[in-house]
Formats: sequence, C-alpha cells, structure tokens
Amino acid sequence: MSKPSASVGFVGLGRMGAPMSARLVDAGYTVIGYDLSEDARRRAAALGVRVTHDLPEVASGAHALILMLPDSDAVAEVLGDSAMLDKIEPETIVVDMSSSEPMRTKELATSLQKLGIKMIDAPVSGGVSGASKGTLTVMVGAEETDLAQMQDLLSTFGRVVRAGSVGAGHAVKALNNLLSATHLWATSEAMLAGERFGIDPRVMLSVFNSSSGRSGSTENKWPNFILPRTFNSGFGLRLMVKDMNIAVGLAEQVGAPVELGSRVLALWSQAAAGLQPEADHTEVAIWLEQDAAPGG
Ligand code: NAD
Repeated sequence: MSKPSASVGFVGLGRMGAPMSARLVDAGYTVIGYDLSEDARRRAAALGVRVTHDLPEVASGAHALILMLPDSDAVAEVLGDSAMLDKIEPETIVVDMSSSEPMRTKELATSLQKLGIKMIDAPVSGGVSGASKGTLTVMVGAEETDLAQMQDLLSTFGRVVRAGSVGAGHAVKALNNLLSATHLWATSEAMLAGERFGIDPRVMLSVFNSSSGRSGSTENKWPNFILPRTFNSGFGLRLMVKDMNIAVGLAEQVGAPVELGSRVLALWSQAAAGLQPEADHTEVAIWLEQDAAPGG
C-alpha cells in the first residue's frame, strides 16, 4: 500500500485508537475515523483526524480498514454492519488491532472471506505512550503476502512481528498480557513485603532492575504509575482481565498447563470486582495494599 495517497478507515478512537490514527495522519495517510462515542470523536479530531458519525463512511474508498475496539464482541458488531461491508473494496484489508479472541478471529476471517473480504489481526503492546510515540510492538496474524501489503502502514505504529497465520497475533497478545499481569501481581506482593520489612521501595526497584527479578512491572509500572500514585497507565483493569481470560481459555482449548495462570486470573478478577469499573490496571497495587493492611 503506497503512501501518502493511501486512504485508511479507523474504527475505535479510544485511548489507543486516537493517538494511533493521529500517527497515520502525521505519516501522510488520509484517515477517516469513527467511534460510537462523541467524546472520543472529538478528542481524535483535536489530534487532526477527520471523523464521521456514519460508520459506512469509514470503509468508503479505504485501502485499509483498521479496528481498535475493546473486544471481539465490538469487532463482531462493527463487522456485522452490512451497510459498511457493502462499501469495502475487494482489495481492502481489514486489520483488527484490538486485543480480541483468537478463535473468534479465525471464525470471523473465514466468514468474511466468503464475502470476498480479507481480514488479518495485528494487536499491539506498548501502551498509550507507545501509541503516541510509534514504539508499539505489532503482533501480526496474517499470510506473508497480506502482511507485505500492510507492512509500511503497520510500521507507522512500531516494530512489526509476524506471529503466524490469522489469529496468531491475538493469541500471542493475550499470552503476553497474562505474563504481564502475573509479573505485576508478583512484583506488588514483593514490594509490599519489602516495605513492611522497612526497605525503601526505590532501593528495592533499583535492585530488582539490575537483578533477575526485573520485568516491565519493575522497570515501568511500579516506578512510573504506582510509586507516584498516579495510576494513569491508560490501560484499564477490565481490559487486562479480559485478555487474561482469553489467554487462560486458549491454554485450556489447546490442552496446555495453566494452573498458575488460572490462579492469577482468579486473583485479578477479585480485584476487578472490588475496584471501580474504570480503574486503571495498575490499581491492583492499591487492592493488594488494602488486602495486606493490618486487619485488611
Ligand atoms: P478504550 O476503551 O479507551 O477505547 C475503545 C473505543 O472503542 C472507545 O472509544 C469506544 O467508544 C469504542 N467503541 C466500543 N464499541 C464500539 C463500536 N461498536 N463501534 C465503534 N466504536 C466502539 O480502549 P483502549 O485502551 O483504546 O483499547 C483498545 C484495544 O486495545 C483493546 O482491545 C485493548 O485491550 C487493547 N490495548 C490497549 C492498550 C492500552 O494501554 N490502553 C494497550 C494495548 C492494547
């Protein structure tokens, strides 16, 4: 797909979709964005994205149609809109960049194929700041020829890695987040134990970060969002639990061991039930603090 003439439809202008669509505009693509929420449309428009409140319009004349939605249900809803499907050109590729369910992605790709529409998956990691800076990891599930067509566009978001055929991007994304959630829970327990013993949390982090206990939680989440108590990573706790459910379900479906994963999912689900629906995922540390408090 050659730029800057290429035209891109973008559905889902939330915390990730707004900065991602703005990066495409900055790179010279002609972008038209849609979101159910008027607030989201307004925020994306403030970043320079042309927006519409008419879903089919995003597909009209688009070389690529990107979806950055909460989950597979929202993806199925958008791709079930027949007026929009009618506007998709035969050479257009639909790219689901949401963190969706791999099995449903494969089924959806097969049913779209019957309508002559090609869909690939390309979920991301790297958070809201990576979305703004173009430093995301983009995990692609696609045949090599389809990825070749999308390579330039996807590189606008960061490092592109082909995980396998359709659905593989979504599988590896969910597994990544199960690992990330496990690290964050374990790091939070270790930090609370050390603090109770009287060790300065910054000293602990500096030791972990030059030792074998380091992870994205010790290098990024604890120092940047938990210690300063801003809890503003931009990744919702509900979305994390959704991804963990996908990963545990996937392991069960393929018969892989997932005892620890299931236990960590149960712990996170308890925290999600006890915190606000809009809580940031880093707020699990608050949940653990309260749980660990004397009499808690
Ligand atoms: P978000 O909730 O901020 O944004 C989702 C947007 O989709 C919202 O603006 C919502 O109005 C819109 N939407 C929902 N249903 C819709 C529909 N049917 N039609 C049109 N618009 C609809 O979520 P986000 O944080 O931007 O995450 C988007 C996806 O990216 C999720 O799958 C999430 O798991 C994944 N993800 C998020 C992060 C992060 O740090 N926030 C990082 C990596 C991956």
